[in-house]
Amino acid sequence: MFDTSEDRATALAEFIDRHPRLFVLTGAGCSTDSGIPDYRDEAGEWKRATRPIMIQEFMTNERARQRYWARSLVGFRRMRAASPNDAHHSLARLERHGHVAQLVTQNVDGLHQAAGSRNVIDLHGRIDVVRCLQCERRIRREELQSEMERQNPAFAALDALEAPDGDADLDGVRFDAFDVPACDACGGLLKPDVVFFGENVPRQRVHDAMAAIDVSDAMLVVGSSLMVYSGYRFAKAMADAGKPIAAINLGRTRADDLLTLKVADRCANALSFLLS
Ligand SMILES: [Zn+2]
Repeated sequence: MFDTSEDRATALAEFIDRHPRLFVLTGAGCSTDSGIPDYRDEAGEWKRATRPIMIQEFMTNERARQRYWARSLVGFRRMRAASPNDAHHSLARLERHGHVAQLVTQNVDGLHQAAGSRNVIDLHGRIDVVRCLQCERRIRREELQSEMERQNPAFAALDALEAPDGDADLDGVRFDAFDVPACDACGGLLKPDVVFFGENVPRQRVHDAMAAIDVSDAMLVVGSSLMVYSGYRFAKAMADAGKPIAAINLGRTRADDLLTLKVADRCANALSFLLS
């Protein structure tokens, strides 16, 4: 569609200029330049041998929980060390200039807020918060991380390839020795306050995001293949409302046939003109 990155930047700049109230939806591709890996390849296919844990498994299987927390203990270290990249900074600046009606992110890393974005809906929750499924108490993941490292010194010493959502590959490691934390207050199951596979996005969050579509004049997708319905539905709603959609994504998206403009580039690169 566009021959040079200059053409792409111009087309994107014009799109943003023409639509001053943007509904921005971001995904994993927005955070890859911060060192947080993506789930999917350019064809939108799953990249990894192991899929993330399903909610049903987490709720019913102690071994699965041990495995989850052991991997997460290692993966979270990389996640918390990450800092925002130019894609996050560009979108924060766009908001300061009054161009963002709403930012909705599928990422759980908190990097938009770290870059200064304020009007953010964390569609899939936040990895830095842990919730008790029994008494609903919320605690900071940082506290739990320290406790888990104290109780599991052998695992705390491990390092591994990081994976999405603070998960990590620890192939060949026995997980049944892992001491899984329980709620201090009631002994209930603790779970990262993120939406797991097989779990629904909380209704209020979807409602708030859908309401923002009404007051937006266009949608900008940044680094998402929209393969998961929780994100795709917003593109669908936007198209149904007759409003245009632009997307920055290195690969195919599920909404390609709904797009007005597609920029196949790294997010930080495609948005960098906003910082100059
Ligand atoms: Zn509790």
